[in-house]
Amino acid sequence: MRSINELKDIKGKRVLLRLDLNAPIVNSAITDPFRIDRALKSIQFLVALEARVILVSHLSDSRGSLVPVYEYLKKKIPLTFVNDIAGVEAHQAVMAIQDGEVVLLQNIRMSEDEKKNDAHFAHELASLADIYVNDAFPASHRAHASIVGIPDILPSYAGFQFLDEVRGLTPALTPISPSLAIVGGAKLTTKVALIETLLKKYDSVFVGGAIANDFFKAKGYEVGVSLVSGASTAGTMLGNPKIILPEFVTVEGPQGRRDILASEVGHDEAILDIAPASIQALQSIITASRSILWNGPMGNFEKGFTAGTDALAIAIASSSAKSIVGGGDTLSSIQNLGLMDKFTFVSTAGGAMLDFLANGTLPGIDALEKKT
Ligand code: ADP
Ligand code: MG
Repeated sequence: MRSINELKDIKGKRVLLRLDLNAPIVNSAITDPFRIDRALKSIQFLVALEARVILVSHLSDSRGSLVPVYEYLKKKIPLTFVNDIAGVEAHQAVMAIQDGEVVLLQNIRMSEDEKKNDAHFAHELASLADIYVNDAFPASHRAHASIVGIPDILPSYAGFQFLDEVRGLTPALTPISPSLAIVGGAKLTTKVALIETLLKKYDSVFVGGAIANDFFKAKGYEVGVSLVSGASTAGTMLGNPKIILPEFVTVEGPQGRRDILASEVGHDEAILDIAPASIQALQSIITASRSILWNGPMGNFEKGFTAGTDALAIAIASSSAKSIVGGGDTLSSIQNLGLMDKFTFVSTAGGAMLDFLANGTLPGIDALEKKT
């Protein structure tokens, strides 16, 4: 993969920079500019080289407009917005930019052809520029036109943020023994591939959060009215001696909130967190580990069941292990603990991180490695 750092002498060249500007927007205002701020490094690098920069991004809402992002970003860099993607207006705007100027195109997912990786659409997009830079690692698990189509056509490079994620996550693919992976969160179906890979690479795999409920159920335990995904794979994985389940859980039901053995859940109770005693039991493994990977909250933190996740975050942050942590909800659940800089690497890539760890690569990485 070529790095954006290798770009020299590109004054006047048109660079299509694929970003992830998918920030949360409420009433046309950006509520958390984190993703936009992180994109600045690659933009400013290209501007400093006096390239003509074309910004392309998606919003997860395929009908949402990037205008709020434009309003925010134009306070940081001189910027024009074009309410078009690869049509006549976009072409005209791109022809008009001067050296060191930047234009932002409209939400690329407004075009159906983006998700389909339509060849004609990819060519239209590519014809806007001379060079392609992908700095959208969090979108690079998608085989979309702006991720895998354009690098087939233009000379392509990885941006700073993209390279940071690859560098930060890669050590998790070859953990140092003794190693521990911790997976929580919900929807086991989205994490089966990840857990299967982790079982091959890590010495122990601790399962918490709602996905532990699937394992409890497979064990024949009563899980009451707990959230379960219904994936049948838990039973198969249960046979693997590397799997560790929490012994104690926090439930809520007619008897109120209580910490009990996972095998003693009532039919009218819901498991909403792992109990502190489960973290205590895990503590000695955490202390002995040299590599720790963690994805997924241990409980329903939105409803106030934060104790298990907080205790786990503190235990990992206090250990001397190399620690890699990530996941959209994992980050929201630990953000206010003030521990972010206590982990070796914190990924902000969400689903792309899960796929990268499960498969060791992403469609967007493979596309950059083909080298046009
Ligand atoms: P991430 O985004 O970090 O990968 P997930 O999206 O897999 O995490 O899971 C996060 C969700 O899991 C949160 O909404 C949280 O409330 C939920 N969750 C975790 N444990 C439980 C539980 N025991 N019962 C219900 N929901 C849970
Ligand atoms: Mg999530």
